[in-house]
Amino acid sequence: MLFASTRSPLMPVTFEDAVFRGLAEDGGLYHPLEEPDLRSDFLGMTEDDSFVQIAATMTERLFPENFPPEQARKTVERAFPFAPKVVDIGDGIHLLELFHGPSCAFKDFGASFLATVMESFLDRSERRAIILTATSGDTGSAVAQAFHNRKNIEVVILYPSGRVSPLQEKQLTTVGGNVTALEVSGSFDDCQRMVKEAFTDRDLMARLPLTSANSINLGRLIPQSFYYVFAFAQLRKRLNDEFVFCVPSGNYGNLTAGVLAWRWGLPVNGFVAASNRNDVVPEYLTSGMFHPRPSVHTPSNAMDVGNPSNFERLLAIFHDDWNGMRAMISGESVGDRDTFDTIRRYYRKSGRFLDPHTAVGICAAERRFDRELASAMDVVVLSTAHPAKFSEIVKEATGAEPPLPPELARVLELEKQSVPVENSSSALKGYLLENYST
Ligand SMILES: *Cc1c(COP(=O)(O)O)cnc(C)c1O
Repeated sequence: MLFASTRSPLMPVTFEDAVFRGLAEDGGLYHPLEEPDLRSDFLGMTEDDSFVQIAATMTERLFPENFPPEQARKTVERAFPFAPKVVDIGDGIHLLELFHGPSCAFKDFGASFLATVMESFLDRSERRAIILTATSGDTGSAVAQAFHNRKNIEVVILYPSGRVSPLQEKQLTTVGGNVTALEVSGSFDDCQRMVKEAFTDRDLMARLPLTSANSINLGRLIPQSFYYVFAFAQLRKRLNDEFVFCVPSGNYGNLTAGVLAWRWGLPVNGFVAASNRNDVVPEYLTSGMFHPRPSVHTPSNAMDVGNPSNFERLLAIFHDDWNGMRAMISGESVGDRDTFDTIRRYYRKSGRFLDPHTAVGICAAERRFDRELASAMDVVVLSTAHPAKFSEIVKEATGAEPPLPPELARVLELEKQSVPVENSSSALKGYLLENYST
């Protein structure tokens, strides 16, 4: 399968190139040029198929040049020592729990697959890479865990001092080994700017093999399609005639991956794009107008994105056809009050804790049911984070504290190790050259 930038569809690149470049040079996003037909593979899958089996089949079918069967199997076994879980919560709503990985959020799937394929590409060509990334909290811990102890790879993560939660800070600063956390005296925007300037510094780029692992990387996007197929295989016997996926969204990578799975033949009737008050995509779906704007702060802060980068990929899939997109994706924007209410209601009803992102998804799913009372429909809501990752908000909504899973309890015991760095691009450059030049 070949890929090209959303802005230069006539200049194909390989999967390996797309993975190491991250963002295309013209500022576009890499995107598949072909739509392989995997429908007969999907229709042959059942609830007895493990996540690894499904991921191996898809890896092999999507990338036959890079991953022959044996190699595909080994790659996904190494990438996924954890798996999604499907849970029925009643009223036709099923949760696809994606938080059973090392950082307890769905980004573990993409980050771990990316780390595994990068490691294998580097090994074949005897190269090394330095992953440089900025985080406001969640992405960084998934990247740190995913790249920990990978051969020929160093990881440098910038985070804003005093502006991530204590748990997030522990998750970033206790991995050790090849992972270094730089604690920047500035905001997340400062961290992002420093990273961006490093990538455009020709001198630095010529001296160090810097590469990004951010969420727009194809190596993170593609594996996110695997769990949509897994959910279908798990549920197909129990589903009504119609079912849709409801995806709590910020940058819209997760939703885009689901739409790709549908383009490759997954039998699903539609998608709900569930946003918080940062609702430029639901707004586009109703009005046809796309108005990016600065983000506003909400309880589901990993979805506080005002100009979602994957929108460009969605447009590419639907060939800029607004009606085509609307026929497949409907939008729902959920306010802060409804988010808190949903967390509270589920806790009172069943003792189940929901993280605020999942709560946005469930609230959007309920609204969709209310509008389509006549249809016998199921909704599969993607549950993107463990409630204990957002315990302050969950506690505010329910009055109770969600229990910590062992992965998170363990990091709280470890000692923080960070390197303080000044808020300037030259400070970052100096640090990198001093520590990573060979
Ligand atoms: C990143 C994130 C999202 C949003 O996913 P996108 O792919 O950016 O739309 C939702 N929930 C959680 C917990 C996240 O970390």
